[in-house]
Amino acid sequence: MPYDSLKALIADLEKDGSLQHVPIEVDPAWEVAAVMRRVFRMPQAQRPAVLFDRIKGSDLPLVVGLYGSRRTYARILGVTPTRINERWLHALAHPVPPVFVSGGPCKEVVLRGEAVDLTRFPVPTWTPGRDIAPYIAGASVVTRDPESHVRNVGIYRLQLKGRDRTGLNINPPQHIGIHSRKYRARGQPMQVAMALGADPVVSMVAAAKFPPDTDEFAIAGGLRGAPLELVKCETVDLEVPATAEIVIEGTADLEHLEPEAPFGEYMGYMSPQRLNPVLRVTAVTCQRRAIFHALLSQKPPSESSMLRGISNEASLLGALRGMGVKGVTDVHVTEPGGAVMHVVVAIQKLHPAHPREVMTAVWGVRPYYGKQVIVVDDDIDIRDPFDVEWAVATTVQARRDLVIIPDHTGRRSDLSVEPERRDLDRSDKLGVDATRKWPYPAPAGAGPEHLARVEARWPEYGIREVERE
Ligand code: MN
Repeated sequence: MPYDSLKALIADLEKDGSLQHVPIEVDPAWEVAAVMRRVFRMPQAQRPAVLFDRIKGSDLPLVVGLYGSRRTYARILGVTPTRINERWLHALAHPVPPVFVSGGPCKEVVLRGEAVDLTRFPVPTWTPGRDIAPYIAGASVVTRDPESHVRNVGIYRLQLKGRDRTGLNINPPQHIGIHSRKYRARGQPMQVAMALGADPVVSMVAAAKFPPDTDEFAIAGGLRGAPLELVKCETVDLEVPATAEIVIEGTADLEHLEPEAPFGEYMGYMSPQRLNPVLRVTAVTCQRRAIFHALLSQKPPSESSMLRGISNEASLLGALRGMGVKGVTDVHVTEPGGAVMHVVVAIQKLHPAHPREVMTAVWGVRPYYGKQVIVVDDDIDIRDPFDVEWAVATTVQARRDLVIIPDHTGRRSDLSVEPERRDLDRSDKLGVDATRKWPYPAPAGAGPEHLARVEARWPEYGIREVERE
């Protein structure tokens, strides 16, 4: 694998401008969020990652936007963008369990007790004026199931509450929610460790959905093609990647809840205050010259929707193949849908009901995903919204081709559900069969062979894009 640490990735991206430095002092209370929003207005392929060298009130630099494009995501995996899913499917089929090492860069500095002070970190406020506090966004949070003893790694929001306290947002269906219910039933606090900025594949697996009791670190090993090296934590019975920039350890008392949020969430709206446990931080370990790593979330386009979408389309494709669903050639979890709501699937259609089988398989294997599933023939570019809409326009009759399932599984964060029904976690599902139902005439326009000939001598035509402004 090309990179085994955040610093190795940063050094490589710097070489061609894929990561750029901001040399001036920037205010984490509002300016980081606004600068990154401006960066994400750039076309996806041209967005750089940003390293803020000087953050007001902190001695640590801050890096944001490392997962802002498919191009960089592919570079982290050491493949071309068209090979991302192939690399992922290989990793899912060939997980490599992590190995334990006795020490690592994340142990260069060990702070406990009074020495712990999270307020010295450059933690941004992501929706200035509306978020209740700065949030640590993008930490890979590790917990262990008290029954199966399998660990879970996921990305969950963490409200900065003081020198040694953070809020811990627990959603019941998430794996950390399952763990916390089991600890609570046993009357035990939950131990938590989180890593910021390790081997860059760690954030990819932390952002993806897997069946419960999947060890995300083993999938990370599959993506790397070599085991991830883990070290034991100082104060909790958990382990974290040895190359992490920063590790935060602590315990959460699950009986004592406190107000947490408002926080501007990834679907693009503020989520209201709720009662959540508090993480009491027992130790912080870090590198001597640590870089604070964060993910830009909030309304798409965002880094979190890029990261979640790419990671989840690969795991969804793998799950469909694992179920024995035939003929699925590719899956796209679209970014405007928050990389959860809308799924487009390309198939080589085998029989008339095949698109419906695929829809129901998606809803079965990822019940919280795919509020809308569009199935198209495999000549459609499912990552081009233009091409997908063309398929819908030219193949769909509403009475015949729409499938509506009322009251399937939903997300309580879905604001389109009536407020009084949101606690039921229900949502309607919409399936759109946008495949051709009989042989169509040949496609119109210059075809691939002629386009390839023009491409080969493109400079000779002397045509260039019109410059804007
Ligand atoms: Mn998990």
